[in-house]
Amino acid sequence: MIVMKFGGTSVESAAAIERVAEIVKSRLDRKPVVVVSAMGKTTNKLLAIAHGAISGERDQALGKLFELRDFHLRESGMERTVEQHFQELSELIKGLSVLGELTPRSIDAISSFGERLSSLIVTSFFQKHGIHAVHVDARKVIVTDNRHTHANPLYSETYAKLAETVVPLAQDRVVVLGGFIAATNTGIGTTLGRGGSDFTAAIVGAGIGAEEIQIWTDVDGMLTCDPTVYPGGHRVKRISFAEAAELAYFGAKVLHPATVIPAIEKNIPVLILNSRRPQVEGTRILSASIASTNIVKSIACKKKVTVLNIRSLRMFLAHGFLRRIFEVFDRNETSVDMVSTSEVTVSVTLDETQRLAGVLADLREFSDVDVLEDQSIICLVGEKIPMTAGVGARIFKALGPINARMVSEGASSMNIGFVVDSKDLTQAVQSLHEEFFTELDPAVFG
Ligand code: ASP
Ligand code: MG
Repeated sequence: MIVMKFGGTSVESAAAIERVAEIVKSRLDRKPVVVVSAMGKTTNKLLAIAHGAISGERDQALGKLFELRDFHLRESGMERTVEQHFQELSELIKGLSVLGELTPRSIDAISSFGERLSSLIVTSFFQKHGIHAVHVDARKVIVTDNRHTHANPLYSETYAKLAETVVPLAQDRVVVLGGFIAATNTGIGTTLGRGGSDFTAAIVGAGIGAEEIQIWTDVDGMLTCDPTVYPGGHRVKRISFAEAAELAYFGAKVLHPATVIPAIEKNIPVLILNSRRPQVEGTRILSASIASTNIVKSIACKKKVTVLNIRSLRMFLAHGFLRRIFEVFDRNETSVDMVSTSEVTVSVTLDETQRLAGVLADLREFSDVDVLEDQSIICLVGEKIPMTAGVGARIFKALGPINARMVSEGASSMNIGFVVDSKDLTQAVQSLHEEFFTELDPAVFG
């Protein structure tokens, strides 16, 4: 058995679902269990409709709801199913507009419709393509606590249900499940959090003992650098889970590794594949580390960060300085990414600056603060980095005249990160890429 998960863009239209059917058909011998996201941007639209309904925009909300219904109708041709679901949904939206309140539980009720519909639609397309497909309602097999909008799976119950229902069905049929949606022990609908379909795929894979989990998306896999910064990157064929996680923290958007932990814990490989180019072998994420002659596996970037240089006014022997600084970030609910410290100065990078004014006002009560805007983090990831002498020298040689600030080894020590001015980002990444990826280990890079 394998799990094949298709994201929103892979099922965004009838044509896209036809492609998915062909991909699944060519892999029937591996007994696929299919997990699908909502079609295209449906989840965003449902949430916008719900928020509109409680803000006194009932008619606009219903108008958008009808557009979404027409879209599903047009792409699927499944009149009865679509009508039934949208009937229920419009009752919910009308109820919300009367109440004027949106609880996490009602958010889950509304956002569940995307995957409820897409999974039924995909099942029907599969059947039309001659695939012996069967729909399983994910809310009947994925059991969670009641933390609505980001519920946690109750693993032993869930795994028992998956083993009981999905495993026997998957022997001679293609099971199709909606991702993201689940229910509590008492049957109240929940969701696993935005982007939760990858999580569903991992949970299902772990629960049925799949030999592999395939995450089908719209890119060829992980690359040696961010293609929007420098397009000359190569595909990474194999990467360890630890390295993939490190890359995700620093901006790589292909997959959030936390979502595949259930699979990694059971040693199940996770593949990233492109549903528009199924012939490309993608990226394989493994729990074990991967030997390679290349020290660096990939260069991640975070564009547009803000650096604060915070200097103590008391200069020396002042204990409690770090505590006071971090209390300010905590109070202002602002998270800090990188930190570097010297005797009297602490530098931090911030991703989000909505509450910067409050942060600055609080910090300036006991310190001097400089703000550097338009900065970028560059982060080189590879498990061999800490064991290899001379990496730093190669980085600085490649950077040449570009100034690198806040150089730090990640806590995992499989990365080296630093900050550059955003105007230098492309040049820096290109030079580093030439330094570390001119010679490629063919076993690891495509
Ligand atoms: N449809 C959900 C979302 O957009 C889950 C997913 O696609 O993974 O967040
Ligand atoms: Mg996704």
